[in-house]
Amino acid sequence: MSRFKDRVVLISGGARGQGAAAATAFAEEGAKVFVGDVLDEEGERLAATVGGFYRRLDVRDEADWHGAVAACEREFGPVDVLFNNAGISHSAPLLETTLADFERVIDVNLGGVFLGMKTTAPSMIRGRGGVIINMSSIVAYIGSSSACAYGASKWAVRGLTKAASVELASHGIRVNSIHPGVIDTELVMTPGRTYEEVFERHRGRLLIPRLGTPSDVVPVVLFLASDEAAYITGSEFVVDGGWTAH
Ligand code: NAD
Repeated sequence: MSRFKDRVVLISGGARGQGAAAATAFAEEGAKVFVGDVLDEEGERLAATVGGFYRRLDVRDEADWHGAVAACEREFGPVDVLFNNAGISHSAPLLETTLADFERVIDVNLGGVFLGMKTTAPSMIRGRGGVIINMSSIVAYIGSSSACAYGASKWAVRGLTKAASVELASHGIRVNSIHPGVIDTELVMTPGRTYEEVFERHRGRLLIPRLGTPSDVVPVVLFLASDEAAYITGSEFVVDGGWTAH
């Protein structure tokens, strides 16, 4: 398949995990992939593997975003698809979460998505319109314990996505959010944690009895980015093995 032949795809947090899996899948379908991250070594390696381009992009930094979009345009042309994927987690009870912890998570997970849309949409408008996919989570639907900052950031991404879809529609830009459940990546598998421990914690909620993998999520990202989703904007896509169904 070559659904993305000659399309320009910018992925934040694309050096590993779900972002890297998406970069690989987009490249396999013909896209020119531009990866931004703060993990330079992994990012360079990934870009070389997929025949794409890597540049350091701290999503909290507006100047980094302008630099990334300019470099992407120089390298490949105007951006067609933005996957606002970069994120960090923070696990602590509300009473033990410092303001600095809270702000750090909000700055990356929410500020990064805001800056990504603000700096990339003009490139899409200069080009042929585009598609934005914002990474949220199932914690955007529930109250999750020990995740007040992370949950607040992902609820806000859900709302921000709706607002952006309204404002950007007239420019030919579709904006949707994606809401994975528990996905087996380094964000969840922090050092010392095993698959079994994480799975046991969630087993009672998972209608499909396993943790998710990036390859469960990526096909939905590519669908939303493709012309098959031409009539879809301002929508939310849950990929969670049934976690939120009950
Ligand atoms: P991951 O930790 O492997 O990937 C996150 C990526 O974001 C890393 O490459 C990291 O370097 C990058 N990143 C972090 N801070 C950054 C910054 N300031 N600027 C640029 N890049 C930065 O984990 P993942 O699961 O692939 O996470 C991708 C996204 O999916 C995140 O937004 C995460 O919140 C979201 N998510 C993950 C899960 C899960 O269970 N793994 C579930 C729902 C949503």
